[in-house]
Amino acid sequence: MYHHHSIRQFHQEIESGQLTCTQVVQSYLSRIRELSRLNAFVDVYASEALKKAEALDERHRNGQPKGRLFGVVIGIKDVICYAGHKLTAASGILDGFESLFSATAVERLLEEDAIIIGSLNCDEFAMGSSNEHSVYGKVRNALDEERVPGGSSGGSAVAVQANLCMVSLGSDTGGSVRQPADFCGIIGLKPTYGRISRHGLIAYASSFDQIGIFSVHTEDAALLLEIMAGDDAYDSTASSEPVPAYSQMLQAERPLRFTYFPESFDHPSLDPEIRAAGLALIEKLKADGHSVEPSGFDYLDYIVPAYYVLTTAEASSNLSRYDGVKFGARKAASSDDLTAFYEENRSKGFGKEVKRRIMLGNFVLSSGYYDAYFTQAQKVRQGIISHTEKIFREADVLLMPTVPAPAFRFGEKSDDPIAMFLGDLYTVYANLAGIPAISVPMGRHHSGMPFGIQLMTNRFKEDLLLQAASLLTVKTPTEYA
Ligand code: GLN
Repeated sequence: MYHHHSIRQFHQEIESGQLTCTQVVQSYLSRIRELSRLNAFVDVYASEALKKAEALDERHRNGQPKGRLFGVVIGIKDVICYAGHKLTAASGILDGFESLFSATAVERLLEEDAIIIGSLNCDEFAMGSSNEHSVYGKVRNALDEERVPGGSSGGSAVAVQANLCMVSLGSDTGGSVRQPADFCGIIGLKPTYGRISRHGLIAYASSFDQIGIFSVHTEDAALLLEIMAGDDAYDSTASSEPVPAYSQMLQAERPLRFTYFPESFDHPSLDPEIRAAGLALIEKLKADGHSVEPSGFDYLDYIVPAYYVLTTAEASSNLSRYDGVKFGARKAASSDDLTAFYEENRSKGFGKEVKRRIMLGNFVLSSGYYDAYFTQAQKVRQGIISHTEKIFREADVLLMPTVPAPAFRFGEKSDDPIAMFLGDLYTVYANLAGIPAISVPMGRHHSGMPFGIQLMTNRFKEDLLLQAASLLTVKTPTEYA
């Protein structure tokens, strides 16, 4: 069985003739079959991936030039367009839909000779924290199959955790890459808002959404970021900031200035073992010559409410297009009453969590409540943005737990949406502020589950973020097994 360490090592093995792309794809395909009970994949592109691998092997034999992702086997979340392939956002409303074009991010991976092996399960329309809200059923955490993998990109996390592909793409609107990475013991990177084009990413909350990367090694995440990031004529919010060669600059050249909010480590919802590990890490960084200074933060209890007001508002607007006529599968019998017809399509097409959020979003935007909720939440967001600018005038990296507690059991929070929402306490900050963030494995809980630590930097400082992440010893999922 092929076991992935890093893209660099994989390429060395290809060059030395120890491996072929075909062998590696075959190995992944048989492992995907063997572990199908994890339910990580929605679709596996078996024959297509094998064909591509054979063509790449042929090119290798002929000594032809290779892309930077030559033969790299990648899975993509079922919210990212890949031309000619099914795309459903794990929702009944997109039954039978096939992408007409590929996301810019996917195009860029393919241009570098990557192999897309399949689409990955997730919470419907990327709304959720447990991957229990999918029309395809739940995804299982490979380290304890009775526990959630996190969400919404649960399939993307498990695919990397369980060695079903080398790296994967997810989307992160409020933590959907970092939280499942934390629950699965791998790395999850959410870049700066606008760093990677959103063209071809199904919208949840457009001013928060960002494509993110799951990997076992920081270096792999850096390489994928450097390939996918950058200007895009199809997305006016994609930044034209130059893209550095992140993967070539993983070594910090000087001691880094870390900061943390004591409130975040003293929060009553934080598991004591995660707290202790975080505080020990702070001491270790100091001992290694970095500075670590506390800084104040008054917003901690406001960020989850602000996030849910703003994202549901945006979602209610983004999802209004799925009416079963212009967009989305037709679920209703034809009718003379257009409103009843739309109602039936949407009621049958969407799942419970998505409906909850559409209703919540419409409520916070309705006249009479708009100022009390939406405007207030915008003010909180603005306050957070100004505060963040101040923090990064004096610090390079902000340290925070990724999630207050490790992966929970299926059903544990299903009847309590508020408890589920509060689990997003530490991740939504980066999306509200638009800054990049990464979750790196930090330790193992007495429950047997891994947990991570989160690092954040100022906007477009992914170079520093990845350098800081490289300082931390990364455990691979097998070391936890
Ligand atoms: N758990 C958060 C939510 O349910 C984050 C989702 C996401 O990042 N897509 O909204």
